[in-house]
Amino acid sequence: MITIALSKGRIFDETLPMLNAVGIVCTENPETSRKLVFSTNNQDVRIIIVRASDVPTYVEWGGADIGIAGKDILDEYAASGLYYPVDLNIAQCKMMVAAKNDFNYAGVMNEKRRLKVATKYPNTARDFFSSKGIHIDLIKLYGSMELAPIVGLADVIVDLVSSGKTLEANNLKAVELISNISSRLIVNKAALKMNISQMKPLLNKFQELVSSVN
Ligand code: ATP
Ligand code: MG
Repeated sequence: MITIALSKGRIFDETLPMLNAVGIVCTENPETSRKLVFSTNNQDVRIIIVRASDVPTYVEWGGADIGIAGKDILDEYAASGLYYPVDLNIAQCKMMVAAKNDFNYAGVMNEKRRLKVATKYPNTARDFFSSKGIHIDLIKLYGSMELAPIVGLADVIVDLVSSGKTLEANNLKAVELISNISSRLIVNKAALKMNISQMKPLLNKFQELVSSVN
């Protein structure tokens, strides 16, 4: 049996067609169901639905053999025992630093002044600013990061940006790119070794599918 961990939301919408393309069809629509475990047309494959940020945890600890997770989550979580064989090129966006329109980010960076940073991604933010020699005060948030600079909670935020419309609607601007983000297939290394006969053909199909569209 192969267990695949997915999250609902953005990644899911783009993942379902890929699963279908590699021959895996859910017997029910997870989007409209409250169930968390789904069987598929393949009796050796089941799908579990977990929170996006929990996908690496499930795969690392063997609750799932394979998962699909954003590079943002993988960079932040830094799991051991995981193998990232395929970049699925889906859910593309950018990890960025953003600030109020009138904030002088270049000035702060040039003078290496201390920055107050609000984010859902503390490790990513700490690593980025420390690589630039900037000391930061880190404020961990779980959502609505855009509010933080508006109410003076932080000077900047570190968050995902795709169209930039949410920033714009809140009088914020992206000021620096941290990294390009997309979703990756992640695999538990031990599970791959133990069940190479079922896992390898499935991973190969994903690899072929991704190379065929690029
Ligand atoms: P929750 O909203 O329950 O806290 P979440 O924010 O982690 O969960 P999503 O918003 O669905 O869940 O994000 C899941 C993943 O989708 C992210 O980890 C990221 O890789 C990707 N993603 C997030 N925002 C965007 C975006 N604007 N454009 C493209 N991909 C995105
Ligand atoms: Mg979200």
